[in-house]
Order: sequence, then structure tokens, then C-alpha cells
Amino acid sequence: MARYTGAVCKLCRREGKKLFLKGARCYTGKCAFERRQYAPGQHGQSRKKTSEYGVQLRAKQQAKRYYGIQEGQFHKYFLMAERRQGVTGENLLRICESRLDNIVYLLGWANSRAEARQLVTHGHFTVNGKKVDIPSYLTKAGDEVAIKDKSKDSDKFKALRESDGRPVPQWLDLNAEAATAKIVALPDREQIATPVEEHLIVEFYSK
Ligand code: SF4
Repeated sequence: MARYTGAVCKLCRREGKKLFLKGARCYTGKCAFERRQYAPGQHGQSRKKTSEYGVQLRAKQQAKRYYGIQEGQFHKYFLMAERRQGVTGENLLRICESRLDNIVYLLGWANSRAEARQLVTHGHFTVNGKKVDIPSYLTKAGDEVAIKDKSKDSDKFKALRESDGRPVPQWLDLNAEAATAKIVALPDREQIATPVEEHLIVEFYSK
């Protein structure tokens, strides 16, 4: 599966907001966005009028970049969200939240979604007792995610599990000691921290 391999800090500067793509570095003075709060490139500092289409496009790009998802897959999620009952924009975010790499990140088992993606690819996690190494694997309510027995006592995971990381959302029931977590239910919109106006994404794809 394709993934973005360019400079990630440029993505925050392009979107005009911090997307927290680099783990701990994002919270330090080394954050590129803190130092240069304008878009990259020669014309990055010029003032631009943004059209309605431009606003919708930026909302879509932000969500994709936030979760580290490429266009093809994101559009597929949109079509899936449309077919589900309920509000399409919220369904879309719920699908993104249920990806295994996102769950690993939210549980504090990785410093960033990019790192979570890599750790999943390397086969460190199980879902309902079976190894899953596909970052885009969509989990569902009732699933149990765990760090593999062989991996959980490695220096890497010990350090991650012992650090005072981010608070774990209520829809995930983490057993830190056992390195397992149950997905209690997929989240409601107010439980999703994604700083994006999803109705703009729906408008973008509905044209
Ligand atoms: Fe974005 Fe983090 Fe880079 Fe800052 S350090 S620009 S928040 S990815």
C-alpha cells in the first residue's frame, strides 16, 4: 500500500495547523510549524483568497494527512461511509478511527500514527488472538487488540508502555499491564479529536 514519503512537517505548514505527525517532537520548540507558520515554497508567504472549493479541499487533505491515508483509500472510505446508516461525515471519521494503526496510536503503543503503521507492518500486534500486520485493518466493537507476547517485553514497548503518554479515549478499554485492549464501541463524534470539519469533506466528494 502506497504511503507518503516526503517531509511530514511540510504537510502541517501547508495545512496551516499542527497535525502532530512526528510524535514527541511536535510538543517541543523544534516543531517546524512553530518556527515557520506559513506554507512551504516560494509563494508560501503570499496572501491568497480561498474559494469554497479550496476550503473543502483543505478539509479533506487535512483529514487524510492526519490519519496518513492516501487518496484512493480515503475515497473508498467515503463511499463506505455513504452506504452506512447515519451521518456520512461522522461515519467517515469513525472508519478512519477504527483502523488498526490508529488504534495502536491511541493506545499509546506508538509515538505517532506513522510509527504505529510501521509497528503494525512489522507484525507486533494481534486482533482477537490472530496476528494482523495490515495497518488499514478495520477493527470493530468487541475486538481485542494486543501486543504480541514476544514483542511486549522488548525495550521499545516497555518504554512506550511505561511512559506517561496521551490519555486513552473512553471507547478503548486498555489493560496496560497485560498490553491488551478491548474496543468497547466505535466512537461518537464528540469522542473523536480529529480537528476537521467533516461536512466539508462530504461536500467536496458530493460535487
Ligand atoms: Fe507538524 Fe509535528 Fe512537524 Fe510540528 S513537528 S510541523 S506538529 S509534524
